[in-house]
Amino acid sequence: MTSVESFCAELGDIAHTADPATVRRKSRDQFTISPLLREALAGKSADVVVSPRSKEEIRTTVKAAVRHRLPITVRGGGTANYGQSVPLEGGILLDIMTYKGVISLREGIVRANAGTTVNDMDAAIRPKGWELRIHPSTTETATIAGFIAGGSGGIGSAQWGMLRDRGNIAAVEVMSVEDEPKLIELTGNDIELVHHA
Ligand SMILES: Cc1cc2nc3c(=O)[nH]c(=O)nc-3n(C[C@H](O)[C@H](O)[C@H](O)COP(=O)(O)OP(=O)(O)OC[C@H]3O[C@@H](n4cnc5c(N)ncnc54)[C@H](O)[C@@H]3O)c2cc1C
Repeated sequence: MTSVESFCAELGDIAHTADPATVRRKSRDQFTISPLLREALAGKSADVVVSPRSKEEIRTTVKAAVRHRLPITVRGGGTANYGQSVPLEGGILLDIMTYKGVISLREGIVRANAGTTVNDMDAAIRPKGWELRIHPSTTETATIAGFIAGGSGGIGSAQWGMLRDRGNIAAVEVMSVEDEPKLIELTGNDIELVHHA
């Protein structure tokens, strides 16, 4: 058994596929606007796409990846322009769009799972009289985690500043990649450790 096959065997009923067409499609973002990246990233691809639906499924996937020493590339909507969501050395494409849904709305702060599109987050809070301060122009496809990890600002920034400005991102929950993955909640200046990183 290869390490990828051993990894897949540990996923149980977590959705995953090694279908070549799907893997190729999910291993790309919008880097093709750059002739340099087109050349540098030609043929780069994951071995398998995993589509988790919960934090527990993400944890199981991360643990198995660590055990089999397989690299993980996280992908939201795949709208990044610089090849950030392209797996450079094969391994796992963690397709986070299946981990979605708004969790809570309290006075001025909405919390959502990583794979929720920015547009869906906004649609969920509008009936309650709120709206997101900033949208990327890719709001219908981009996920909130992809926007925080890869984006910087957009529609709304003329009034509210860049995403990094205090008050625009209240907190980020991250999972470490190690034998026993940890959940860490970042707030305040610590958010900059992962925002646009
Ligand atoms: C036409 C066009 C217009 C754009 N306009 C804007 C704009 O107005 N403002 C702006 O800021 N950007 C803009 N962008 C860039 C891009 O759309 C944004 O950064 C977008 O928000 C990325 O979201 P995504 O879900 O598509 O992320 P992806 O492209 O899937 O991922 C972006 C990065 O985040 C990482 N990532 C994704 N999800 C996670 C996760 N759950 N955990 C950890 N890391 C993760 C990926 O590995 C990758 O490095 C534009 C891009 C295009 C092509």
